[in-house]
Amino acid sequence: KEIQENLNNTKELLDSISKYFESLSSINVKPTKSPVPLPKDLPIIPIPFNQILNTIETSIYPNNLHWLHPMFFGYFPASTSWPSIQGSLVSKALSSVAFTTSSCPISTEIEKLVSNWLGQMLNLPNQFIYGKGEGGGLTYGSASEAVLTAMACARLKKNTVNPVAYTSNQSHFSIIKAAKVLGIPIRLIPGDRDNNGNYPLDPKKLVKQIEDDKEKGFTPIFICGCVGTTNVGAIDDLETIGKIAEKEDSWFHIDAAYAGSFAILPELRHILNGVELATTFNMNSSKMLLCGFDCSNMWIKDSSLLTNHLTQNADYMKKSNVIDYKDWQIPLGRNVKGLPLWMVIQQFGVEGIQKYLRNHIEAGKLMEKLVDEDKRLEIIARRSFGLVGFRVKGENELTDGVIQRLAENQEIFLLGSKSDGRSFIRFSPGSNPPDLSNVRKAFEIVKGYLDELTN
Ligand code: PLP
Repeated sequence: KEIQENLNNTKELLDSISKYFESLSSINVKPTKSPVPLPKDLPIIPIPFNQILNTIETSIYPNNLHWLHPMFFGYFPASTSWPSIQGSLVSKALSSVAFTTSSCPISTEIEKLVSNWLGQMLNLPNQFIYGKGEGGGLTYGSASEAVLTAMACARLKKNTVNPVAYTSNQSHFSIIKAAKVLGIPIRLIPGDRDNNGNYPLDPKKLVKQIEDDKEKGFTPIFICGCVGTTNVGAIDDLETIGKIAEKEDSWFHIDAAYAGSFAILPELRHILNGVELATTFNMNSSKMLLCGFDCSNMWIKDSSLLTNHLTQNADYMKKSNVIDYKDWQIPLGRNVKGLPLWMVIQQFGVEGIQKYLRNHIEAGKLMEKLVDEDKRLEIIARRSFGLVGFRVKGENELTDGVIQRLAENQEIFLLGSKSDGRSFIRFSPGSNPPDLSNVRKAFEIVKGYLDELTN
């Protein structure tokens, strides 16, 4: 009876989630102004499921910023999908702690499979592919966790008293945070403004900084290149940076959290040129691969670079000769993290995923075109993927005015940012297969505010 009751409740919950998804196009993207508060009393006796479901529907859904809303254009998307939700559900249901292959044999199978499938989709070099070289891939929780793991191993590998790390000043702060946590000085190499208004890392400045540091007794242990920076989507020259890392015998990490997925498109595979030089390559399947947070894939060319440093054993755990993912990551436990991606790849197929990525790009293209057609506006950095940064020409005042009005508007979630002191509107197509009419609507809102401010 209990099983049946829980099953019915869960089915009801799934219906409710489905209705929530359907409701998104008719509600505001931002939370309602007067939230219905969550019940605060500690439940001493079980609360009836219907009552909990009611709280979810009246307090949880409406009080959230709706990341899946068609008018969500802030941050990078956390694209989820039913297949991903199904995968998470199975993982929760298995309730396995997949620290070793013997603790959860299926986890190792799934990780190997999805890492190789995705590696094949991205056309990664054989060294990263299980069974073809010394390496493989693993699903981590986040890009931050991936870079922390990589940098920790780089530090342990070099075992020097004076380590130093490098990345561009456009890189995500998770790289700076990893260095901070590990007590490694990190040099932020200025990006070089290119013809597209992007700021890729300047390799000449990197070499110069390395020379200066070496003279002062530092040892370069970690260099990070980025494909698709968070602010403007800049792409670093991986080939040149990779060669510098190789010369310095330094770990070369690639952070492609947002943009890496686009290399699945043959027309954009070139963004990963140079990946063969990477020690570790990371991209988030939570952002553009329909897996929802958390799901971040990292490949390593030689897995011993992780296991040499992260392996710890205990008497109650048998040592094994097979892969034990506790030795590839900092925490001991993990769930069957590859399941959402396993479900997504099967249910969308490579073609479905490519279609999703191209839709996202189309939304960016349309916004770029609309901006280009309005003589008062300028693009701050040329679009490579979906992300478009644009501003009102001239001083920051009008752009700031538009950004402020956008912040007050409940119907749209679109944020401002700054690049080189210049304010801009950072348009990032949302996670729903972007409906182009919503892109037009977003542009009309911006234009309306600009009209208001200039008339
Ligand atoms: N790197 C880049 C380029 C990002 O844009 C982000 C987040 O948006 C991250 C890293 C950090 O991602 P995570 O939240 O998975 O740690």
